[in-house]
Amino acid sequence: MPELPEVETIRGDILGAGVVGRGIKEAQLLWAGAVREPEPREFCRRLAGRTIRAVARRGKYLIFHLDSGESLIVHLKMTGALLLRGPAFGPEPYLRALFLLDDGRELRFADARKLGRLWLVDDAQKVVGKLGPDALAADFTPQVLAVRLGSRRAPLKPLLMDQEFVSGLGNIYADEALFLAGIHPLRPAHQVSPTEVATLHQAIGQVLHQAMANRGTSFSDYRDLSGEPGNNVGELRVYRRRGQPCFRCQTPIERMALRGRGTYFCPRCQG
Ligand SMILES: [Zn+2]
Repeated sequence: MPELPEVETIRGDILGAGVVGRGIKEAQLLWAGAVREPEPREFCRRLAGRTIRAVARRGKYLIFHLDSGESLIVHLKMTGALLLRGPAFGPEPYLRALFLLDDGRELRFADARKLGRLWLVDDAQKVVGKLGPDALAADFTPQVLAVRLGSRRAPLKPLLMDQEFVSGLGNIYADEALFLAGIHPLRPAHQVSPTEVATLHQAIGQVLHQAMANRGTSFSDYRDLSGEPGNNVGELRVYRRRGQPCFRCQTPIERMALRGRGTYFCPRCQG
């Protein structure tokens, strides 16, 4: 699923493509179930004629701020993609929604598994207000991480993926950050030492920045705004590397199921 680096790559592409300042001539829904709020006809009616004023990101959510004061919010979930296509571009597989811009280009929302969602709300906080600090925001400091970990007994990995704890990390970057920090995914949060918290905080920033520099990680689904995959797979140290030698100690990487998600780690470096 697209995580923070992938969503931020798409946001950067949207900014670079000059979408901010453009009008939405028309919104079309090919699958009404993609819209969480308001009811689908209302969603299309209220979007028509609006101008995109800014594009923000919070965790894994993309937020289009409109001239009406409303926000169009997109969550790509497992297989969603936002694609910017010229007028002559061919049909899009799994197209669920389409926003026709006033310069003739189309912002397309495609999603094979239909898990991605769209909202049009007066106040973005209604959708993203419950999220924990964004993993790359200035307010996510080592001190904040230490305080949040200190009060929890849950194992680290699922906690790092809990969007109300810290927003933006998913399965890939939680595993990668824990490997880089040398901490076992099952370690109870309150048992992480102050030094380890600082190392973990730094590791989170490092894996996210590395992934953004490589325009995200693509296995089968993630695509950027022009439909191209990211280049970060070669940088992954543990994720989906079961049985392959650890980059540091040569011990084979192990995989365990943790709350239904494959979790990859080095049993020696993260002992
Ligand atoms: Zn190792």
